[in-house]
Amino acid sequence: MAAAAVNRGAEDATSAFARSAMSAILLPVLLPVPLDRPLDYRAETALEPGTLVRVALSAREVVGVVWDGPAEGGVRAERLKPILDRVAAPPLPAPLRRFLEATAAETLEPMGRLLRLVLSVPAALVRPPAALGYRRVPGGPQPRVAAERRVVEALQGEGVMPARALALAARVSGPQLARLAAVGLIEAVELEGEEAATPDPERPGPALEPAQAEAAAALAARVAAGEGVVLLEGVPGSGKTEVYFEAIAAALRRGRRVLVLLPEIALTAQWLERFARRFGAPPQLWHSGLSAAQRRKGWRRIAEGRAPVVVGARSALFLPLTDLGLVVVDEEHDPSFKQDEGAHYHARDLAILRARLEGCPVVLASATPSLETAVAAGAVPGGPGARPGWSRFVLPARVAGASLPRVELVDLRRERPPRGAFLAPPVRAALAEAVGRGEQALLFLNRRGFAPLTLCRACGHRLRCPSCTAWLTAHRLKGRLLCHHCGWSMPSPEHCPACGAIDTLVVSGPGVERIAEEARALLPSARIRIVTSDTVATAAAAAELVRAVLAGEVDLLVGTQMIAKGHHFPALTLVVVVDADLGLTGGDPRAAERSFQLLYQVAGRAGRAALPGRVLVQTHDPEHPVMAALATGDRPGFLAAELEERRAGGLPPFGRLAALVVSGNDAATVQELARKLARAAPPLEGVRVLGPAPAPLALLRGRWRERILVQAGEGIDLPGYLRGWLAGRRLPSGAALEVDVDPVSFL
Ligand code: ADP
Ligand code: ZN
Repeated sequence: MAAAAVNRGAEDATSAFARSAMSAILLPVLLPVPLDRPLDYRAETALEPGTLVRVALSAREVVGVVWDGPAEGGVRAERLKPILDRVAAPPLPAPLRRFLEATAAETLEPMGRLLRLVLSVPAALVRPPAALGYRRVPGGPQPRVAAERRVVEALQGEGVMPARALALAARVSGPQLARLAAVGLIEAVELEGEEAATPDPERPGPALEPAQAEAAAALAARVAAGEGVVLLEGVPGSGKTEVYFEAIAAALRRGRRVLVLLPEIALTAQWLERFARRFGAPPQLWHSGLSAAQRRKGWRRIAEGRAPVVVGARSALFLPLTDLGLVVVDEEHDPSFKQDEGAHYHARDLAILRARLEGCPVVLASATPSLETAVAAGAVPGGPGARPGWSRFVLPARVAGASLPRVELVDLRRERPPRGAFLAPPVRAALAEAVGRGEQALLFLNRRGFAPLTLCRACGHRLRCPSCTAWLTAHRLKGRLLCHHCGWSMPSPEHCPACGAIDTLVVSGPGVERIAEEARALLPSARIRIVTSDTVATAAAAAELVRAVLAGEVDLLVGTQMIAKGHHFPALTLVVVVDADLGLTGGDPRAAERSFQLLYQVAGRAGRAALPGRVLVQTHDPEHPVMAALATGDRPGFLAAELEERRAGGLPPFGRLAALVVSGNDAATVQELARKLARAAPPLEGVRVLGPAPAPLALLRGRWRERILVQAGEGIDLPGYLRGWLAGRRLPSGAALEVDVDPVSFL
């Protein structure tokens, strides 16, 4: 008692001393709020940059990060709020702090908003309570009563047992165990956190083919050098994953950590299985489907450097990984790497940035690299040229002799589907043949639900979303009409909401559910599965689907882009693209490229093993360059033509774009604000400001949207230009401005 009192007194004396001697310590602290710079706080002792601290912000307490560099000053120390305490979590590493600064500069997102992505799991910032275990005290007393004997027996041969397990095994209560500890029969110990098995780089992979081996060696060299951007290109099934697994092994051997970004993380059951087989242990997963406990434990493991390999969706970019030795972006062309809700950023571009700041190489893998990546890696002649530090490796063929599928165009103008149907006669015949042979087939249509439009036969009224510029999609399985933009839904109505007539509502156009219905009529005994985000909503559901397909329990898959990527189904021999023209409409400069990538990717699902594959592409426009390139397999020619179009339009990779969207509840106010904003654009040679004009989605979630497009020529610092334009600009409350540098979506 006395000793404790003395100690406390001493502590008080020191801090009082500290206060008087060093009262001038000001520290910049970055907070996870939409501010673009750190705020000054008063500290009693100096704290290293990166230290996580708790501070007061208006009426609440928040966790922030001590930032680098001097405090801003200007306010007397006594008037600043103090740092309340340190948080029991490892500091944010310097490369991650530099990454947030660089990302803020590139995207114009406030740094604090980006910090919120890093500190996304507040519960992980508290040191987890140490789990309690018990062991026998060596040389302790002998057990006397039955309960004591049971405890000692249960511990025999176990060493340490978790308290809960011991209580269960010996049929005693927790307090009873504590009493036995008090009499010295057993003793309490802190259990080590359950350590997950770690991936072992020494386990052998398959013997690589020559092209694979060459790429793997080059990647290992870059891992050793700690730099480089490598495009790993090769048709689906050419063994890219095996190659970057070798690079992962190389990084692990050097004691470094690895970040792998995958699109559609919920659908990577097969990837995870392969990883575990290759490395003998699973990676740390990171995606939005994790439970709160998984997130807390995962974040903590990562921050404490206990997760050698992290695989995740785009948000994994902001994890506090340390000692990165390699970053992998698989399917680098995938549009889902672009984040458009909240912060606007492109995970592939940021992965390259983070790798550079961490001093490690990045691998971009794809069968259909984006034009930007292909040009930067020197794969397309005639562009702005390869960027320094970039290189490219090509895997020319499918491994193990599997050949690429034959792609045939089905001209819908000549091969007409029967009335009210969507599958043309050659497609119907091919389906019946493939399923008849006991093989699997895939019908691809990138549209969820039953039909994209519901209208009244009597009055012509079309059912649209009350808060978006969008028709409602009919979902038969759910019995509802759904807005695919805001998620609003209503039960399928029986009478027309406009004229009140009964039984006059009809649907128009197909969604996957409708195609499945047509297929069912065609092949009544076929086992059909619909694969969309509606029917396969969780990682577990995805894993079950993969299992069922591999086990031959499915004859026919009908799915959206969800089924287009990544999967390896050896018995799948026929792929049908129901509507190849679907993605080509709209004002998106990348529509053709995107269509080609998606259709090529889907086609790649066919014939991945010994059985030859066949792909039928239904189109109204067989002469379209996308269709021609698909049929002939002339990707280089297609890219060269695309590049010329981009050059003519001054579009990326020739220069850059930014989209500024002003939104608010009142259309006229929004229009006026957008006009004012556009008028304030500083004139600069090489920059064109287009608009404002109503955005294609002019109404979204009840907010009116006006868009300004900024087109900057090569060599112009677009983020810098935008900062100069937008600095200090305030919008009235209720209105919002979103800035999207290098936009991917043009809605
Ligand atoms: P990609 O990533 O290019 O689509 P994968 O790496 O998934 O290709 O390879 C396709 C299939 O071939 C996988 O089943 C993989 O295990 C197998 N494979 C890849 N490389 C080899 C190899 N060198 N020897 C044997 N099988 C291989
Ligand atoms: Zn809506």
